Amino acid sequence: MVLLRFAPSPTGSLHLGGLRTALYNYLYARKHGGKWILRIEDTDATRYVPGAVDNIRESLNWAGLEYDYGPIKGGPHGPYFQSERLDLYKMYANKLLESGRAYRCFCTPDRLSATRERLARSGSNETYDKACLHLTDEEVARRVRAGEKHIIRLNDGNLPQRPAPHDIVFGALKDTHASLPTDPVLLKSDLFPTYHLASVVDDHEMGISHVVRGEEWLPSLPLHLDLYACLSLAPPQFAHLPILLNNDGTKMSKRKGDVQVMDYIRRGWEPAAVLNWLALAGWGVQHENPDTSAGSTSASSAPAPDSTALMTLSELIEKFDLSALTHRRSVLDPKKLEYINKHHLTRAWSTPEGLDNLAARLHDSVKAAFPLSQYTTEDYIKKVIPTLQERVTNLQQFPFLAPYFFIEPDFFTAEAHEMVKSISPSEYSDVTRAVAARLEKPDIVWDQQNISAALHEESTKSGIKSRVFMTILRHALTGMKTGPSVAEIMHTIGPERTLERLHTIRG
Ligand code: GLU
Repeated sequence: MVLLRFAPSPTGSLHLGGLRTALYNYLYARKHGGKWILRIEDTDATRYVPGAVDNIRESLNWAGLEYDYGPIKGGPHGPYFQSERLDLYKMYANKLLESGRAYRCFCTPDRLSATRERLARSGSNETYDKACLHLTDEEVARRVRAGEKHIIRLNDGNLPQRPAPHDIVFGALKDTHASLPTDPVLLKSDLFPTYHLASVVDDHEMGISHVVRGEEWLPSLPLHLDLYACLSLAPPQFAHLPILLNNDGTKMSKRKGDVQVMDYIRRGWEPAAVLNWLALAGWGVQHENPDTSAGSTSASSAPAPDSTALMTLSELIEKFDLSALTHRRSVLDPKKLEYINKHHLTRAWSTPEGLDNLAARLHDSVKAAFPLSQYTTEDYIKKVIPTLQERVTNLQQFPFLAPYFFIEPDFFTAEAHEMVKSISPSEYSDVTRAVAARLEKPDIVWDQQNISAALHEESTKSGIKSRVFMTILRHALTGMKTGPSVAEIMHTIGPERTLERLHTIRG
């Protein structure tokens, strides 16, 4: 049975890296007809942040990554908070004590830090002098009976043979504990386990088949394998996901941009697009569009993924393959997200249901942006969407790209002024009057083609350069230099509002 787990520590809001880990767990579980667990690793009370679990759950929920077992939902392996499983860790620590794979250490924090400093000064890589390893059984029993505070450490010097570490993504690994402390602590004096013991115990107890987690845990893998071997347990398979980087190759951090999932929710990105974007960060095959990547040198012309890399969640499940993941560090390029988001939107509004859904979502934001406008109904928004869809990369932009669809144009901007500064008032009113007169004729059927033909005729008749002619109309209708075609705007806002704007005297 394929069973995975996403095991965040509630030390703050969920980051993009965490969401990607959750996504890969989800994809693998779904692809193989398995399940996945949300497990909260809250054994470090000093780092606990209130509200973090809610934030993690809300973020997963927004992304549509529904876990099978975990907090609130429950399941057969619960409880899913490590702080509620302390007896279990104690039991495993006792097993290790009994077999001599672990020992009790009574050293005070002061002694430990003095020892660490002394060892470092002498150029040693060790972090502890193993003083308590040499206590007699009687001595240990006496101190335990006396209630003396102590911790439980793994006995690095007494480890069983085991196979060398292997990772699905990183392959064969160096079998070294170099970055780990000497005789790592397994159980703290407050009876809380350290991450290493809790993680191994829970992965075993819960029956996890694959551990998919961030690269930052790769150095811990030899220690985890030691623990499995010390406890005579079969380890799961491991897949570590490469670290995510900013465009400039630095580690993602708050200072460099948005890293929390909540930031992406707040900024109106489509969940499907964010997941697609994250999935590609670590995906084995590089999907790059040859048209845009050729010769690109700056971050602003960052390569966009090709159309085969634009995938919905169900397509991601279908294509996902752990063995195709890359261990190369992956850059999360915000420009790529814009590109992906735009395409997810285009897909969504190309179907009638998708269009209904987007109009419903936009309704509140358009109303909030233009509270006094009567042109904010869902039906009207549905008419406006096709005129703007080419330009919308994020739904939040929608109300502000072309406010003249919802309210009267603003003619007092520098842009509006600039548009007509070389056009004489008489030329301006000749054009608007002639077009109004033409469009007022009762025979005109108000569709884009007819309007366009009428404008064309009037433009030819006027003898004015067609560019100037259209600029005047665009100005009268929108006050903005760019936008959909003039005929499209007229068609969308309807005859009454078009004529009203053409009749308004300016200057
Ligand atoms: N609790 C760890 C974290 O939040 C997860 C480690 C793991 O998945 O084993 O990064």
